[in-house]
Amino acid sequence: MRPTPAYAAANAGAPLVPFTIERREPGPHEVLIDILYCGVCHSDIHQARDEWGGSIFPMVPGHEIVGRVAQAGAQVSRFKVGEVVGVGVFVDTCRQCPSCKGGDEQYCDEGMTGTYNARERGTGAPTYGGYSTRITVNEDYVLRIPESLPLDRAAPLLCAGITTYSPLKYFGTKPGSEVAVVGLGGLGHMAVKLARAMGANVTVLSTSESKRDDAIALGAHAFAATRDRGTFKRLANRFDLIIDTVSADHDYNAYLSLLRLNGVMVLVGLPDKALPVSAFALVGKRRSLAGSMVGSIGETQEMLDFCAEHGIASDIELIRIDQINEAYERMLKADVRYRFVIDMASLRG
Ligand code: NAP
Ligand code: ZN
Ligand code: ZN
Repeated sequence: MRPTPAYAAANAGAPLVPFTIERREPGPHEVLIDILYCGVCHSDIHQARDEWGGSIFPMVPGHEIVGRVAQAGAQVSRFKVGEVVGVGVFVDTCRQCPSCKGGDEQYCDEGMTGTYNARERGTGAPTYGGYSTRITVNEDYVLRIPESLPLDRAAPLLCAGITTYSPLKYFGTKPGSEVAVVGLGGLGHMAVKLARAMGANVTVLSTSESKRDDAIALGAHAFAATRDRGTFKRLANRFDLIIDTVSADHDYNAYLSLLRLNGVMVLVGLPDKALPVSAFALVGKRRSLAGSMVGSIGETQEMLDFCAEHGIASDIELIRIDQINEAYERMLKADVRYRFVIDMASLRG
């Protein structure tokens, strides 16, 4: 075992503070990764504050990990010591259920094993995430980071990137598709870049009028302020696909009215409250309301390669680990442009 510096929340109300965890020596199929950068996802806040219920404490969040292989088990075939790799939202699945066998292992019937706030299959030990200096992971759940991507700006691709890439692909985004992105935060800004690269006409729907210029600079063709109720009249029946990344309560019905015939609204944002959906918002135009969770390991690799090919990476604010609590407060005010990434050198000291 290796004592490893980390930052943890002791309970749902507590700020993150320095904490030491143990990382195991890599087994035959595992790699030990020295973590260089870790992105800060809004899911880290939801879970550290136990907003979804069932959180396991102490919690070391973080599932947008980029690092370097420090040690590889004897049977590891895909990675070599020194290689730059990534770890995303999950580190294990059952490998046997129809979802796992069908290459959709993020939807494992037994539930994926989260990179943090989960229990390891077998031992039942809690998993600890990327707000730490190293992690041991089975090579089947490790990604290759293409050489051309800047490492700090690649970290958010491991969750924000794949979570938006997967539904854009699944729901058939193609040149000319009318795509709206609701919420311009970590996920939202990746959705804009990826949808644009797939050839879509992209509109950002945001509560923050101040993000208008950024939205266009990120690649959106149009921006509409959702506090202006006129927006919902003006854009009625407009979109083929809406990617809803909003982390807090909002009226789904208003956004559904923006879908054209057969349009789909995909929820990726996970507010803690159950919100009402009117049948009338769906029935009159054969609209669908869907949900989507990250993406498979195979699809995550495809997304990383797509980003390298199209020169796409996240727009980030690099922070020290001791700025993490302040970063959470800013994210709660929708004040992040557009992803915080922790420089893990600040935890090595
Ligand atoms: P984020 O960076 O904090 O961005 C969320 C954005 O939502 C904000 O920037 C803001 O955009 C908008 N927003 C916030 N409060 C709002 C409100 N009350 N009404 C309307 N809009 C509001 O968060 P993130 O990291 O992108 O994560 C977004 C959500 O996705 C979280 O709930 C997270 O847990 C979830 N998530 C899901 C998956 C999955 O697999 N499905 C994966 C990762 C994250 P504007 O300023 O533009 O309005
Ligand atoms: Zn995430
Ligand atoms: Zn499974």
